[in-house]
Amino acid sequence: MGTIESRYVANTPRSAAADGRAGKAIVGSNSRGAAWWRPYPITVARADGVYVEDVDGRTYIDAINNYTSLVHGHGYPPIIQAVSKQLAMGTAFTANNNHQIALAERLIDRIPSMDSVRFTNSGSEAGLLALTIARIVTGRSKVLMARGGYHGILMEFEAGSMPELMAGHDASTFLGNFNDAASFEAILDAHGDDIAAVVLEPVLGAGGIVPATPEFLRRVQAAARSAGALLVLDEVITFRLAEGGAQSLLGIEPDLTMLGKIIGGGFPVGAVGGRQALMDIFDPGQPKAFHSGTYSGNPITMTAGLASVEALTETRIKRMTSLATRLADGIERHASNLDLPVACGCEGSLLQLRFERGDGLDRMASFHLAALNHGLLLAPRGMMALSTLMDEALIDEMVQRAAQALQDVADEPDLESA
Ligand code: PLP
Repeated sequence: MGTIESRYVANTPRSAAADGRAGKAIVGSNSRGAAWWRPYPITVARADGVYVEDVDGRTYIDAINNYTSLVHGHGYPPIIQAVSKQLAMGTAFTANNNHQIALAERLIDRIPSMDSVRFTNSGSEAGLLALTIARIVTGRSKVLMARGGYHGILMEFEAGSMPELMAGHDASTFLGNFNDAASFEAILDAHGDDIAAVVLEPVLGAGGIVPATPEFLRRVQAAARSAGALLVLDEVITFRLAEGGAQSLLGIEPDLTMLGKIIGGGFPVGAVGGRQALMDIFDPGQPKAFHSGTYSGNPITMTAGLASVEALTETRIKRMTSLATRLADGIERHASNLDLPVACGCEGSLLQLRFERGDGLDRMASFHLAALNHGLLLAPRGMMALSTLMDEALIDEMVQRAAQALQDVADEPDLESA
């Protein structure tokens, strides 16, 4: 065990014990693959604003905000007020509620390609509904997505991030290369008759914060149209980039849009929206497909989501973008002073830190643990997402903590000789 990991283990005995206990009841000790890392994840006791505190009483600046979903940090007062009010009035009914209507109105106002919307409990379920619509309208079953794309846990989408695990299991997914329109055109040309939907993120999220070029999206949309397949834009993460989502920045109107994360204000959520004729498939008056969900559109999530979306204004989005640049520049400056091959890119308020050359993955894992040792919580793969609560002073503190972690990585003898 290297120095960084030994320090992490010394810092987190209660998290280690919690992980040991968890492993006896939960396979892999945690129900969320993306919140697991070696030797074990911290167990969180509480969170407030920009901070998270673990069961060992250590405090971290939260630089990932639940993988982008907490765009206003933890316990944002307008969300707490809205939810508290609703908690006293009931949490779920076998009937409609006004918050659901208000959130739907707000979303279709903001995203012109959506005439209508349906809510789910996760982004993964939004993907499921998008595929259901595409399969029914086209009469086809297959999917085309990008290598490195992530659209949730449906088996059809797992090929994007785990092609080796899915090899031989899943013949229903074709993979093109992100930002390589010709690779998508070739697949649509050869297999278009089988493809129900082309599903794409405007910015690869899990794939490392890589923005799509407008030309790539335009060409793929044209090729999908001529093949008779639907274009589904997955804005589960990118809705935070503009009031109208990334599609408003890219000037593209997809057939269907997947949403999630911030539209739930910190509660489980997803949504799919699009043109009326497509969404009508779920009209229970004349259904072509049945969509339900015990907690879909529940008033707690809907009131929290409305407060979250309303507070995500263009001014705040721009401010987060400038803070993200300050953070990325600060990290790169320190890495370059230490002669570490680190790139830290940002797209709006989303950031990705990468170790280039050689042992990138080992160094990333070490940097992640070192950052935790210095009180900075980010995704194990180096992704960060800012919240509207952050300011310059906090960003400078994050740069300092990241710089200390980079110093530890530079000092780790095993990594140096690797
Ligand atoms: N799509 C994208 C782009 C995502 O990043 C995610 C989750 O990280 C999903 C879909 C799935 O959302 P959920 O985790 O709510 O199922």
